[in-house]
Amino acid sequence: MSPSMLDMASVREYLSKKLLCQVAMSEKRLALTFDDGPNPHNTPLLLEMLASKGIKATFFVVGRRVRRFRDLLKQTADAGHEIGNHCDHHVPLSFLPRAIISRELEVCGHLVEGVTGKRPRFMRPPMGWINDKVLEVARESGYDPVIGSIHPQDSRQPGLDTILRRVRRRIEPGAIIIMHDGGWRIGVDRSQTLAAVDIITDELLESGYRFQTLSELVDDTHQGKSTA
Ligand SMILES: [Zn+2]
Repeated sequence: MSPSMLDMASVREYLSKKLLCQVAMSEKRLALTFDDGPNPHNTPLLLEMLASKGIKATFFVVGRRVRRFRDLLKQTADAGHEIGNHCDHHVPLSFLPRAIISRELEVCGHLVEGVTGKRPRFMRPPMGWINDKVLEVARESGYDPVIGSIHPQDSRQPGLDTILRRVRRRIEPGAIIIMHDGGWRIGVDRSQTLAAVDIITDELLESGYRFQTLSELVDDTHQGKSTA
């Protein structure tokens, strides 16, 4: 997803007709999601922070990282967080043939199930690359595709204040926040993300928000309808 595309109402409206972006509700509930892990440096710090605040999140993991850091995935799932499918190799699915898209999802899903005992319910297309083909294959493979509604571009390390500003201005009930605990390099620096999550979660808990896993956010609503 290019910078701040999700900040454009027209883009959110278009995407919300195609896949889950956020959940319509009035209660102060939202979901924190983290992509591209498991990461041996950042994921443990995040797990510790979330546990200290009693927060459950959703982690969209990459198959090739799961192969290397199985124990970390197990630890994440055992802590009560939801695990989503972020493909085996974090590739832009729109450019790939259906068979490869299907395989990317299948391999990652199989790895996750092998570690956690549970097949992921949601998939998030790497880098937000979607088209009708990607969404069709994802659904045929049994996944609910999801993007989110708040994308502060934390993976580009724009600075703590910028991340905070981008998140704060789009907070609302039913929001789905996209952040990153992993990255292309295993040694990737996510200190800005961690600092931002620490501040934002304190602020939101203080103002009465509850953090839920994606499944909880979606299932806990009578409306059960995704919208922007
Ligand atoms: Zn990603």
